[in-house]
Amino acid sequence: MLDKRINLMVAWNLQESTLKDVKESRFEVAVLPVGSTEPHGLHLPYGMDYYQAKAVAEKACEKAVEMGAKVVMLPAIPYGSNRNSLGFPMTISLDQSTLNMVVRDIVDSLEHHGVRKLVILNGHGGNDFTPLMRDLYGRTGVFIVTVDWWKTVEDVRSIIIEEPGEHADEFETSIGLALFPHLVHMEDAEEGFVNTPKVKSLTYPWARFTRPWNFLTMNSGFGNPLKSSKEKGEKILEKAVERIAHLIKELSDPEVSEGFPY
Ligand SMILES: [Zn+2]
Repeated sequence: MLDKRINLMVAWNLQESTLKDVKESRFEVAVLPVGSTEPHGLHLPYGMDYYQAKAVAEKACEKAVEMGAKVVMLPAIPYGSNRNSLGFPMTISLDQSTLNMVVRDIVDSLEHHGVRKLVILNGHGGNDFTPLMRDLYGRTGVFIVTVDWWKTVEDVRSIIIEEPGEHADEFETSIGLALFPHLVHMEDAEEGFVNTPKVKSLTYPWARFTRPWNFLTMNSGFGNPLKSSKEKGEKILEKAVERIAHLIKELSDPEVSEGFPY
């Protein structure tokens, strides 16, 4: 069996590391994956957003370490902000303000240990850490970046994905097939039709509102997953991992000084 410590010479996965590992390491960047617990159609698991955020973080951290980054991956948060999905059984939601409190405490701990940069790697569209970053500006010595991981590859997705959707769609299902095929049940996949609001102006993207997901969709899917494939998922993941690893490596090198990153 390969010894990760000999292999990579650093403890990048905190949950799998010992105190000995951590004492021998120096961390410049922490990566915090955040997911959600909610249905993803009849064919994908409730943990979809958690599993994908965690897997992308793992792959990106491992690659960044190979590139020489001093990075540590923190345990992933399995919950997200999704009160608008509570109409489906067993959606478990944390308010964004609760999530922010958790992240705030994690930032405090990182600062205590001298880790001055944090990448929040978000896997759920309903989570938004932008106001938190603004609130923490000037209040913490930790520089925070939020990355919605699927947005790192919008260009690649638009070429590879034939029928774009929003939820449990061809994109998300392809990612599931690439990462955890044993949890994907294509025989149960549906076309993911959505209803349009009777207030027609609400179809404009500039009119933002919270969609009651169980009235928008029948079984939570938004977009047709039937053309999903493992290969599509792998291609998208490869590019996302490459770009996020590059970000981590670039963040790892410079010191955080006043006015960072300028
Ligand atoms: Zn999702």
